[in-house]
Amino acid sequence: MREIRAHLQEVLGEAPSQTDRRVRDLRDHFRAPAKKINGEYRYVLEGWAENRTNGSRKAISDAIRAQVLSPQRCAMCGRTPLDHQVVMVVDHKVPRHWGGSDEISNLQPLCEECNAGKKAYFANYDQYADAIRQSAEHPEPHGRIGELIKAFRGDWVPAELIELVASMKQYQEDWRKRTRELRLLGWTYETKKRKDPKTSRIRVWYRVTGWKPWPEGSIAAEVRRRDPSNKRASQSDR
Ligand SMILES: [Zn+2]
Repeated sequence: MREIRAHLQEVLGEAPSQTDRRVRDLRDHFRAPAKKINGEYRYVLEGWAENRTNGSRKAISDAIRAQVLSPQRCAMCGRTPLDHQVVMVVDHKVPRHWGGSDEISNLQPLCEECNAGKKAYFANYDQYADAIRQSAEHPEPHGRIGELIKAFRGDWVPAELIELVASMKQYQEDWRKRTRELRLLGWTYETKKRKDPKTSRIRVWYRVTGWKPWPEGSIAAEVRRRDPSNKRASQSDR
């Protein structure tokens, strides 16, 4: 990515954020996963994209677009076109190149400004796009969370990314509890908290330091079995 950015900046004079988008757009046509080689992410061309539709991205229908935008209020900042002269766009909560769908549950109305901010923030994690997509495939929330933090291989994972991936099959209100429960399975991780100087909000990161293979069968059942607060229940199971 470093080389692609430098090259395109030189040839086309484009900002790095533009380049990131072009690489993403390539995924509509080509299968080109990012792979870590000698400590750096490199893009490897493997072939045509499987869901390539005539070479062009399937657009969201006008009806869906209208339905998503109907609240006429940005889902992040709450501003409205009428009161604040903002322009509304349809945003994918989970980006498409991270495996997010065009289902209405994955769409939300955002003002252009929030949309651009969110895209720029998410672009920081684009090198993990394949890891995110793969983690999200896991059928259980513990599995999605565990696979995600494992894929970061000792790098810090922001809490909001864990929430997003944990919720990719259905919303997980208890994603923090699910994360803590990994410890019952023998996993270890560290957390750090920092105050965001811009928003003054506390941000939290997680970093995995040790993991165990998943139990055979249901992870949730194994967690319940090992949970000391469920002692009575597990004894009556035996
Ligand atoms: Zn907004």
